[in-house]
Amino acid sequence: MSKIQKIRGFQDIYGEEAKKYRYVVDTFRKVFEFYNFKEIILPYVEDISLFKRSVGEATDIVQKEMYVFTDKGGREVALRPEGTASCVRAYIEEKMYAEGGYHKLFYEGAMFRYERPQAGRYRQFHQIGAEIFGVSSVLADAELISMVDNVLKKLKINYKLEINSLGDFQSRKSYTEHLVNYLKKYENQLCETCQKRIELNPLRVLDCKVPTCKEITKEAPKITEFLSEESQKRFLQLKEYLKALNVDFIENPRLVRGLDYYTDTVFEFITEEIGAQGTVAAGGRYDNLVEQLGGPPTPALGFAAGIERLMLLVKDLPKEKPLITVIPITPDYNIQSIQLSNKLRNINLKSETMLKEGSLKSMLKTADKLKSDFVVFVSDKYELKDMASGQQEIFYTQEDLIEALKDKI
Ligand code: ATP
Ligand code: MG
Repeated sequence: MSKIQKIRGFQDIYGEEAKKYRYVVDTFRKVFEFYNFKEIILPYVEDISLFKRSVGEATDIVQKEMYVFTDKGGREVALRPEGTASCVRAYIEEKMYAEGGYHKLFYEGAMFRYERPQAGRYRQFHQIGAEIFGVSSVLADAELISMVDNVLKKLKINYKLEINSLGDFQSRKSYTEHLVNYLKKYENQLCETCQKRIELNPLRVLDCKVPTCKEITKEAPKITEFLSEESQKRFLQLKEYLKALNVDFIENPRLVRGLDYYTDTVFEFITEEIGAQGTVAAGGRYDNLVEQLGGPPTPALGFAAGIERLMLLVKDLPKEKPLITVIPITPDYNIQSIQLSNKLRNINLKSETMLKEGSLKSMLKTADKLKSDFVVFVSDKYELKDMASGQQEIFYTQEDLIEALKDKI
C-alpha cells in the first residue's frame, strides 16, 4: 500500500520539538497571567469577508495566501490566517464593550497561509498573541511591547526591537500621497509586485525584500515626517515609557507591517539567527478596526508571535522531572506495581509502569530507552536502582521507598 504523507507546508511536531513548542507557549502564558490577560479560544474557520474587511483586500494574505472553501451550506469560509480579526469579531459579537472597563485577551493556535514553505515559514503555523480593547493611552502600547520583551528575555533569545509610528488616518493619508509620487518616479525599476503595490498598497513597497526596491526606498520620504502633532506626541511618549521600562529599541521609519489595519504604533521583534524569516513577534495599534468591523469606536492594539520561529531559537529547555520506572519482576507483582506508580504520581513524582513484559534484562533495557532516572524492581521487596550511578538500595515497604525517593529528587 502506498503511504499517505502530510500535506506540503504542514508539520508533525513531536519529541523535543513538541517540548520546545510547549515551553514557548507556557512562557508566554505565564507572563500573560501576571499582566492580567484572559484567554479567548477562537474558531479556526471564519466567514471570508472578516479577513477581507480587516486584514485588507490588497494584502498578500487576502490576495494569495488564504485557504478558502465553500462549506456544504454554501458559505464562503477561510481557515484563519491570523488571530486579530477573529478577536475583534468576537469582541463585537459577544458585546464585550458593553461590560465597560477595558479588555485584555490572549489566544494561541494554528494559522493557515498558502505561502512557499521554507525554514521558519509553513502553511500551517502557530501563533500566540494578545489584544487590548478599549484603551487609547500610550501606557498600553508600552506595556504590551515590554511584555513581549519580557517573554523573549525569559526565553533567552537574541533579538532587536524595531518601532515606528504610522500616524493616525490623516497623517497616513498625506504620507501615502507623497510616497506614491516618489515611487512613481522609479516605477520601472521596481519589482513587478511593487509596481502593482504603488496603486494597491504603497506602504508595502517599503517592506519589499528585493534589493533594487530596498535601494530605491532608502531615499523615500519617511512617515515620521508626516505625523500629526498628536501622533508625534504619542510616539515620543511611547519612547519615554519604553526607556523607563528598560526596553531597548531601534526606530525604523521604514517599518510598516503587512496588514492594513495599523495606526500609530507598530513594532517588530527581529532576530538575525534564522535568516530571512527573522521576525519572531510583531504588532501595533489599530484604533479604527473595531468600528470598521461594525463595533463601536474602540481604540485597540495587539501583537502576535510565531511559535515555530521562536522554537528555532530556543536552545535550553528547562529541566524535566526525573522519571521513576516501576518494574514488576513477574506478572505476580503487577497490581502492587500499578499501585506504587499511582502513589508516586499522587505525590507529584513522575512514574512509568513498565508496560512491556519480558525478562528482567529486557525490561531494564526498555527502562533505559525510556530515559528512566530511577528504576524500582517490585517483588516481595523494592529494589531501587539509580540509573546514572548504578547504585542500588533495598526497601521493605512502599513508605520507606517513597521517603528515600523524595530525598533523592
Ligand atoms: P513575514 O513578513 O515573515 O511574512 P508577516 O508580517 O506575514 O511575517 P504577521 O502576520 O505579522 O507576519 O504574523 C506574526 C508572526 O507570525 C510573524 O512575525 C512570524 O513570526 C509568524 N509567521 C507569519 N507567517 C508565518 C508562516 N507562514 N510560517 C511561520 N510563521 C509565520
Ligand atoms: Mg507574511
